[in-house]
Amino acid sequence: MKYISTRGNNQQLTSAEAIIKGLADDGGLFVPDSMPQVDMRFIDDLQQLSYQERAVKVLSLFLTDYTGEEIKGCVERAYGDNKFDDSAVAPVNFLHDTSVLELWHGPTSAFKDMALQLLPQLLSTALKKTKAKNEVLILVATSGDTGKAALEGFRDVPQTKIMVFYPDSGVSRIQRLQMVTQQGANVAVTAVKGNFDDAQSGVKAIFNDQSFNSGLNQQGVALSSANSINWGRLVPQIVYYFSAYADMLKAGRIKSGDQVAFVVPTGNFGDILAGFYAKLMGLPVKKLVCASNSNNVLTDFLNTGVYDRNREFFKTISPSMDILISSNLERLLYHMTEDSSKVAGWMKELSETGRYDVGAEVLAKIKKIFAADWSDDAATKEAIAREYEQEKYVLDPHTAVAWNAYSKLSDKSNVIIVSTASPYKFNESVLSALGKSIDGKSEFELLDDLAALNSFDIPDGLGKLKNSEVRHNAVVEKNAMPEAVKKFALK
Ligand SMILES: *Cc1c(COP(=O)(O)O)cnc(C)c1O
Repeated sequence: MKYISTRGNNQQLTSAEAIIKGLADDGGLFVPDSMPQVDMRFIDDLQQLSYQERAVKVLSLFLTDYTGEEIKGCVERAYGDNKFDDSAVAPVNFLHDTSVLELWHGPTSAFKDMALQLLPQLLSTALKKTKAKNEVLILVATSGDTGKAALEGFRDVPQTKIMVFYPDSGVSRIQRLQMVTQQGANVAVTAVKGNFDDAQSGVKAIFNDQSFNSGLNQQGVALSSANSINWGRLVPQIVYYFSAYADMLKAGRIKSGDQVAFVVPTGNFGDILAGFYAKLMGLPVKKLVCASNSNNVLTDFLNTGVYDRNREFFKTISPSMDILISSNLERLLYHMTEDSSKVAGWMKELSETGRYDVGAEVLAKIKKIFAADWSDDAATKEAIAREYEQEKYVLDPHTAVAWNAYSKLSDKSNVIIVSTASPYKFNESVLSALGKSIDGKSEFELLDDLAALNSFDIPDGLGKLKNSEVRHNAVVEKNAMPEAVKKFALK
């Protein structure tokens, strides 16, 4: 299998090359040039397998240039070794009325771990396979969650280093502690004076500085990002759609061949797109429901065919979905049209005017598979309160957005709600939604308050923070970021 650009230059890469490169030369995203197909026998057989074994089976269909042993090694290092606090890795929790696919049992208690545990392994193996001599330095600007998940994923992975910049004013105390206590011999964490935009524009400027990059290249270091458009971040996510279906079968909630629906809290369109790939491969999926917060650009797109980012940006209580440009949508447009010149045209319009219209025909095709809905913060909090009342299950605000979309569906049969974060990561919003007082309490007191209501214990990674050693104290001005990168790169 080869990987090609959504925008149609004639590059044809192996999966290892696509994972190293990240983005195609024409600015497009890499997609597989054909779609592997599975039958019900393949799916039925997954029931008896562990998550790791399921992952090897699904990944092997896409990473055809990796050996079976290589894939197995990557998967074991990513998901084995008690890195996840549930042996099922991505368990389906069967409540009375609903089934919840919990994607937050990893080291940082959120869905990004599912991909960011595996991507570094795939990348490191790709470097070895392609006999690349250089070291890869991953640069990340973070407003919180992605930085920590990337640090955990890349720590001590051969031939890689990772440096994370976070705004010194702009992450919560727990988020800061999660990063500054990070362990590993190949990691650096640095605060930037300013806000998230300062950190992000600083990192972008470093990527775009050609003489800076070629200077590092000469010293054997190549910069890269752990961006969510990398194929190596998307492909791990296909696995859990198959895994959830197999768990539904095993629990007797469905029969082999029954169609299921997934409701997915969505921001950059990566999680739900993986569900779309699973459907293209033959998983019986009747609907993928895209759930957004007040930044409902995708709801409008999936209902009208017009993508328009020219709108107010809202900061919500589900911050990981506060996005106005959903990069991975480009892949959907490619698969729906198989017309890379059309896709390139829309992406050009998006960058020039902030808007494009895919027209009635493409929209009709999309609507056969996707539905969309959105919730504002008030409705999100109501969902948290309602679900706690009904099932004593505590939702995080991202999952609650999906829950609301689910509760409005007319056909509620065989629905799987995708849950993307542990509620402990969002104590304040969750406790206030449940009518508890949060005034004057420290984040650690809030963890304890939530533990009194939640049937899950405080995740290790959060609970032990109070007493962990601080290992990263650096603070820099924005204009000193390149110097800091150089120093760490050549260390
Ligand atoms: C990143 C994230 C999402 C959105 O996923 P996309 O792949 O960007 O659509 C939803 N919930 C949480 C908790 C996240 O971290």
